[in-house]
Amino acid sequence: LIAELIRSRKPVADWPAMLFEVVDNIHRGDVLLGQPFEPGAAIRATLARGAKETLVEVDKSNLRGRGGAGFKTASKWSFCHATIAEEEGGVICDIDGHPERFIVCNADEGEPGTFKDRVLLNSYADLVFEGMTVGARVVGASKGFLYLRGEYRYLLQQLEAVLKCRREAGLLGETILGQMDFSFDIEIHLGAGAYICGEESALIESLEGKRGRPRNRPPFPVTYGYKGRPTVVDNVETFACAAKIAEKGGAWFAAIGTAQSTGTKLISVSGDVARPGIYEYPFGVTVSQILDDCGAEGRPYAVQVSGPSGTTISWKEFERKIAFEDLPTAGALMVFRRKRDLFQVAQNFADFFAHESCGFCTPCRVGTELQKKIMSKIASGYGTASDLEELKRLGHILKTMSHCGLGSSAANPVLDILEKFPDMVESKLKAFAFKPAFDLDGALA
Ligand code: NAD
Ligand code: SF4
Repeated sequence: LIAELIRSRKPVADWPAMLFEVVDNIHRGDVLLGQPFEPGAAIRATLARGAKETLVEVDKSNLRGRGGAGFKTASKWSFCHATIAEEEGGVICDIDGHPERFIVCNADEGEPGTFKDRVLLNSYADLVFEGMTVGARVVGASKGFLYLRGEYRYLLQQLEAVLKCRREAGLLGETILGQMDFSFDIEIHLGAGAYICGEESALIESLEGKRGRPRNRPPFPVTYGYKGRPTVVDNVETFACAAKIAEKGGAWFAAIGTAQSTGTKLISVSGDVARPGIYEYPFGVTVSQILDDCGAEGRPYAVQVSGPSGTTISWKEFERKIAFEDLPTAGALMVFRRKRDLFQVAQNFADFFAHESCGFCTPCRVGTELQKKIMSKIASGYGTASDLEELKRLGHILKTMSHCGLGSSAANPVLDILEKFPDMVESKLKAFAFKPAFDLDGALA
């Protein structure tokens, strides 16, 4: 790939976009992808319906957060909206005396194997900004931020151009669509390459100009967010869905997917497949269906759902469903064929978490380093059965004692390999057991 980029003689600044094109194939879907969307349609529908009724529609739709955790969007928005009533009388105000709320779009898409937000921002930015504007109307915010992953810097210029067009069309800025009591604008904030800033409270710290370190939650951002003000932080795909719901209604959205997981999910497919890219499926689709559609090579052996902080499933589980009630996912699906060394995959992820740990709390700072070292020892052929016990013990400490989601999910890929693919790990131990430093029998003889 690098050789091709050099041969292309294109400026180095264009290389990220050219590299990403390789996997940005979009496979058309039913709700978000490939559907016509007229900028302003969702805002007009929201203004016609009113903020409260729009919240009712979002509630009816049962939209759940697309960043992975699946918290109900209507609940989040209504918690934030409820702070208006609490503040009546101007009890809590910002430094200028305004009771301010904020909308933040979390575009710090850092989970390895996840690239659906990049595609949405690249090709459907209007839909995302429109969803943020609908959210602003519902919760009463006048300022929004798009927190863009540092590695997506190459999208910055085109996103600014979309914002400019929207301002010119009266869809952002003062008195949106002539509505005197509705002003809202969006600022893009570029991250600096830290995975932890995808965690919402670390993201807010970073937005405030501080080091990206997760806060204690509760209080959640809906009550105590940016500058201590009520703030809605939602994923890029969640805002895109919200725009569609505002336009077409909650019942339309709720009719897609399953009862507990409504609508569709964008899945970023990568690994041993003929057609990597972005796929949109109604929730409830089986992993085997996705594998068929993307041309999984040979007989896939394992699939990692939701990246390293998610879960690794074996071929025995391919009939499981992508849904919050079965396999929840932020959107990554990595396919591994039979010959892949899954231990090495887990080792890479152990390195990743040790590198990305922010170092704030001891269980994660020390635990991820120890996990990395033990994995490396086993990979070099010096592992023993007691190292496996140590990995399980560390995994338990990471899961139960870490301060934030990074630490509590850092052991997932390692524990999954130990539990579901024990042969792959034991074969590494055997390499040590069968290679004694000298021939004991021969020496005795
Ligand atoms: P969480 O369950 O703690 O919170 C989810 C959302 O709901 C947050 O916005 C939170 O503020 C809100 N919330 C939860 N309880 C609330 C309450 N009582 N009141 C008000 N708001 C409440 O999950 P999390 O730690 O924010 O995120 C973990 C998820 O992130 C995992 O599922 C993981 O898969 C995913 N993840 C995604 C990426 C990516 O690139 N998209 C990267 C890493 C992790
Ligand atoms: Fe930082 Fe890890 Fe602790 Fe999270 S769990 S606060 S990433 S050290």
